Amino acid sequence: MEFTYTAPVIKTQENKKQEFEKASLVSSNDEILKAKILPFDFSNPPVDPIEFAHFLVRTMLERGGIGLAANQIGYPYRVFAMAGEPNFVCYNPIIIGHGDQEEKAKEGCLSHHNFFVKVKRWKSIKTRFTMPNGEATTKVFAGLTARVFQHELDHLDGESIKTRSSFLDREKAYKEKMKLDKK
Ligand SMILES: [Zn+2]
Repeated sequence: MEFTYTAPVIKTQENKKQEFEKASLVSSNDEILKAKILPFDFSNPPVDPIEFAHFLVRTMLERGGIGLAANQIGYPYRVFAMAGEPNFVCYNPIIIGHGDQEEKAKEGCLSHHNFFVKVKRWKSIKTRFTMPNGEATTKVFAGLTARVFQHELDHLDGESIKTRSSFLDREKAYKEKMKLDKK
């Protein structure tokens, strides 16, 4: 899929510390949510990966999310934040293995207001990603954390809870959304 990236607006202050504009979520049908985002290049980073990580976590918390991918707020970087103790940020995340069990559960998404749909996910996954400081790490996640990781990784591949759910489950979710939107 081809589309043109819009360069993010970055204010460079006198101390050279990058500050990002207040983020707003792109609309649910924005092309950037349907694109496969290219790997983040740590050898020639388009933004300071540590500063951007802070920004992403801050935005996630402000929005009340438990995960947030950069493209959800219009930045074409292959990175997402996840809520936890502590919160953490994954650059260039991949799933390198998984258990043999899948589980269907309802998910919501900051990009799809009032849309809650059942999605099938691996219950446990082995992942690899680069931390904001540039170090690669391997981590195993299970339960909700595994689910959030898979949800956020989907965003970076142009997928969403709408493309990952079954037709019937989606129909139910749309009906439910109509009720929720009226409230
Ligand atoms: Zn989402």
